[in-house]
Amino acid sequence: NRITAPDYNNNQDADVEFSLRPKTLSEYIGQEKAKENLSVYIEAAKQRGEALDHVLLYGPPGLGKTTLSQIIANELNVNLKITSGPAIEKPGDLAALLTNLGPGDVLFIDEIHRLSKAVEEVLYPAMEDFALDIMIGKGPSARSIRIDLAHFTLVGATTRAGQLTSPLRDRFGVLLRLEMYSPEELCQIIVRSAGILGIPCDEEGAMELAKRSRGTPRIANRMLKRVRDFAQVIGNGTVTREIVDTALNRLEVDKLGLDNIDRRMLQTIITHYNGGPVGLETIAAVLGEETVTIEDVYEPYLMQLGFLSRTPRGRCVTPLAYKHLGLDKNGQTLL
Ligand code: ADP
Repeated sequence: NRITAPDYNNNQDADVEFSLRPKTLSEYIGQEKAKENLSVYIEAAKQRGEALDHVLLYGPPGLGKTTLSQIIANELNVNLKITSGPAIEKPGDLAALLTNLGPGDVLFIDEIHRLSKAVEEVLYPAMEDFALDIMIGKGPSARSIRIDLAHFTLVGATTRAGQLTSPLRDRFGVLLRLEMYSPEELCQIIVRSAGILGIPCDEEGAMELAKRSRGTPRIANRMLKRVRDFAQVIGNGTVTREIVDTALNRLEVDKLGLDNIDRRMLQTIITHYNGGPVGLETIAAVLGEETVTIEDVYEPYLMQLGFLSRTPRGRCVTPLAYKHLGLDKNGQTLL
C-alpha cells in the first residue's frame, strides 16, 4: 500500500480514476510530442476512412497509456475493447476477442509483453493480414482454415519496448514513448482533477504536490485525495502548500517525492556497496523486491532525478543523491 507506487490500485480508486481520465486529445495534458504525431495519424486515418495503424505505447506505469488508448478510440469514434497480456490465457481467448471486433475498432492490450508465445503467434497474422489461421482436426486429417478479420487497430502498452519480442515490436506502425511529466504539467493535471473532484486547491498547493508526485499523474491524483483528508481535518478544507507539506511529511514522502523504499535503496547501495556499481539482482535480493519492480517502478524516477546511473558494471548512486540524503562522500551523515 505504498502511496507513491504507480501500480497500486483498488476498486474505490478505479471509479474515481475513470472520471479523472481525459476523454479527448486536447484535454490530455503534456506528452506534446506523442500527442502531436498521434493527432496527425488519427486525422489521416479518418480522412482515408481506414483503420489507424497499430500503436505501441511504452513508458513507466501511471503515465497515461490506458487513458491514451481510450482517447484514440474516442477520437476515431470507434469501439474499444480493453484486455491485458496475462488475461489472454489461450490462443482461443484471443481469437474470440479478435472475431468480435468491427472495422476500425481498437483492441487495447495492456502489459502486452506478458502474452504467451502461443497467443503471440496468433497475433502476428492478425496484425499483418487481418486473418486468423485455425487448425482443425488432428494428425493426417488436420488442416488449417483462414478466417478474415475486420481491419482493427491494436494498441499495445508496455513499460519497456525492449521487453517485446522483435517480431511483435516490428508489427507496430506507430511507436510512442511516454515521458515523465514536468512539475508544471502535473500541476495542471492536479488543478484539473481537483476541479472534477470538487477539492478546493490553491496554485501553490498544487505545485508543491506536483513536485512530489514522481512525474506520474496516477500518483499525483492519488496523493491529492489523501491530502484532501488532511486539509479537511487539520486545515480549513483548502489544499495549500503548508497542508501538502504536512500531509506528505506524515506519509514520509520527501520534498522530491522519494519515499522510504527509494531512500532505503539508495542507502543500501551507499552503505554496503560504496555507492556502486552493484548489480540489479543484488539490489533486488537485499531489498526483497523483484528485479522488474525495481527497473520499472523505482529506477525511472531516480534516474530522472539524476540520483542513479546505469553502467555496464551495475547501478551507481550519484553525488547528487548523497547530497539529497545529507551524506558526505564516505556515506557519513553530514552534521
Ligand atoms: P497507465 O495506463 O500508463 O498505467 P493510466 O492511463 O491508467 O496510466 O493513467 C493513470 C491516471 O493518470 C488516470 O487516472 C488518468 O486520469 C491520469 N492521467 C494520465 N495521463 C494524464 C494526462 N496526460 N492528463 C490528465 N490526466 C492524466
